[in-house]
Amino acid sequence: MIQTVGVIGAGQMGSGIAHVCALAGYDVRLSDIKEELLTKAVGNIGKNIDRQVAKGAVTAEAKAAALARIKIGTEMSLFGDADLVIEAASENEAIKRDVFKKLVPALKPSAMVASNTSSISITRLAAITDRPGKFIGMHFMNPVPVMKLVELIRGIATDDETFEASKAMIVRLGKSAAVAEDFPAFIVNRILLPMINEAVYTLYEGVGGVVSIDTAMKLGANHPMGPLELADFIGLDTCLAVMQVLYEGLADSKYRPCPLLVKYVEAGWLGRKTGRGFYDYAKTPPVPTR
Ligand code: NAD
Repeated sequence: MIQTVGVIGAGQMGSGIAHVCALAGYDVRLSDIKEELLTKAVGNIGKNIDRQVAKGAVTAEAKAAALARIKIGTEMSLFGDADLVIEAASENEAIKRDVFKKLVPALKPSAMVASNTSSISITRLAAITDRPGKFIGMHFMNPVPVMKLVELIRGIATDDETFEASKAMIVRLGKSAAVAEDFPAFIVNRILLPMINEAVYTLYEGVGGVVSIDTAMKLGANHPMGPLELADFIGLDTCLAVMQVLYEGLADSKYRPCPLLVKYVEAGWLGRKTGRGFYDYAKTPPVPTR
């Protein structure tokens, strides 16, 4: 039975996961590398719950109770009483390896571990820990409070108990699970990211400008967001990391990351989270940066 949920990384995904878990009644432990990132994350969670309060979906009392359930800290000892810890640190295998190595000694023996990775092998991440049987991929979608899906990915060793407990938790969060096998980028990103990468190539080759590409896919394919707008929303560093995992993991040149995507990431233009990507978010409404 899961009651206390740890979340590692308080970026856009970690904050969203902490938000939905706290509202669903779980006790939450949220960590990041710096205290100020955590204070900012809790502030954002409060503001995001306020939107749900304004819509009448959540009461002010439920908001206060949810925020009171979130404990923050920068040390792994924070997770000593966690039944499940969900890792949502940056999409970088070296960072995740380091996180799992440091996490394991802090855990109680029965604790389960999940990764929210968008693309990295669950089997490989599980092998870093002392408990591959209790390790699973729980891939939440962005923004977590809004999106209904969680992809559930079993590593080669994941036991049935961990799989069933994760599935039950997804239901308690009011979400639906789609089960994916442990192949690079699983289902959603295996399909979505090559489309986004192709949109960046379309821009790179001058087939269309930013607005034309996004308008084309919104009005022409009925997508709620254009692919470049969506890339900025996901984070261009995350998009590039997923393409690299597909390219290397499947050894097929069709997954080659577009050089323009690489250039944006090198420039630190990571999308919404840094205020600039394919659009400049300092302007209202945002304007294309090229
Ligand atoms: P982000 O850049 O917003 O947040 C990452 C956070 O991890 C940052 O706050 C960073 O300080 C923290 N971090 C880095 N090293 C750490 C460490 N050693 N210990 C603790 N915290 C550490 O990124 P994000 O978009 O929240 O992505 C996080 C994870 O979720 C990635 O694996 C990503 O692939 C996955 N994911 C992202 C999306 C998306 O749309 N952005 C969707 C699903 C899954």
